[in-house]
Amino acid sequence: QADMALFQAKRAGRDTLRFFDPAMQAQLHARARLEADLRQALARDEFLLHYQPQVDADRRLIGVEALLRWQHPERGMVSPGEFIPLAEENRLIVPIGGWVLEAACRQLVAWAGDPATADLRVSVNVSPQQFREVGFVERVLATLARTGAPPERLKLEVTESLFVHERDEARETMRRLREQGVTFALDDFGTGYSSLSYLKRLPLDQLKIDQSFVRDLLEDEASAAIVASIIALSGSLQLEVIAEGVETEAQQAWLVAHGCHAFQGYLFGRPGPVEALVIGR
Ligand code: C2E
Ligand code: MG
Ligand code: MG
Ligand code: MG
Repeated sequence: QADMALFQAKRAGRDTLRFFDPAMQAQLHARARLEADLRQALARDEFLLHYQPQVDADRRLIGVEALLRWQHPERGMVSPGEFIPLAEENRLIVPIGGWVLEAACRQLVAWAGDPATADLRVSVNVSPQQFREVGFVERVLATLARTGAPPERLKLEVTESLFVHERDEARETMRRLREQGVTFALDDFGTGYSSLSYLKRLPLDQLKIDQSFVRDLLEDEASAAIVASIIALSGSLQLEVIAEGVETEAQQAWLVAHGCHAFQGYLFGRPGPVEALVIGR
C-alpha cells in the first residue's frame, strides 16, 4: 500500500500536494485519533487541574495558577502543549475551558471557609477562542453564581493575541467582568507582536513576565533589559507584575532587586494536585 501511495504521489508531479505521502498519512491518523479521544475526554471525566503556587518575596503563598491536565486512559498524562492547540483549532476549548473555570471556582469555594486559604486567588488561562465566544461574560458570571465563588478571587489570564484585532470588543468583555470583581492578567507578556499602546486602554490588573526572559535573565543582557523595562512599565501603569518560570535563587534575587515582588516557578513549587500545596508558611 505504501508503494502504491508513493507511485500515486510521484505521478501527481512535483508541484502537487502529495495527499498519499505515507508519513503524512500516519501523522494525520495519529492526530485524528487524538482529536477523537479529546472529544470523549470531558464525558469520560479525564481532565483534572494541577495548581502551581504564586508567592511573594517572603515566599508566602498568595495565589495559584490552575493548569489543565489530561489523564488519557492509554497515553497517561498528556501535556497541555499537545492538546490545547488542537482543542483551540476545533473549538473544543470552549466546553473544556468551561470545565476548567467551574473546577477552579469550586476550589475557591472550598478555600473560602478557612481563614488560612480564604485570601488565595486562582488564575485561570483563557484561550482567545473561548474569550471571543458569544456569551463568554454571561458564562463566567453564571459559573461564579452557581458555585458561589467570590469573583474577586478569580483572575483570568489572557494573551496579547487578543488585542491585535477587535480591541474594543476585548475591552468591553474585560470591563463587564471587572465590574463584577474579576481581575485580569496578561500572560506571556513580551512575546506577542502587538504594540504597547493597547496597555493604556485595557482594564488589566497584572502583567506576567514571560518565562523565556526570566530564564535568560542572568546570562543575557537583552533579556535583563526587557525584564527591567517590564517591571518599570508595570509600575508606571500601576499594574501588578509577576515573574513566571523562576527556577533559581539568583533569578529571584535579581527580580527582587529590580522591584518585582510576585513569583511563580519551579523554585517555589511545580504544578501539582491541590493537596500538594504548602499553605500558611
Ligand atoms: P502558561 O499559562 O504560560 O503556564 C505556565 C507554564 O510554564 C506551565 O506549563 C507550567 O507548568 C510551566 N512552568 C511553571 N514554572 C516553570 C519553571 O520554573 N520552569 C519551566 N521550564 N516551566 C515552568 P504547562 O502546565 O505545561 O502549560 C502550558 C501552557 O498550556 C500554559 O502556559 C497555557 O498557555 C496552556 N494551558 C494550561 N492550562 C490551560 C487551560 O486550562 N486553558 C487554556 N486555555 N490553556 C491552558
Ligand atoms: Mg498562564
Ligand atoms: Mg505564561
Ligand atoms: Mg504560555
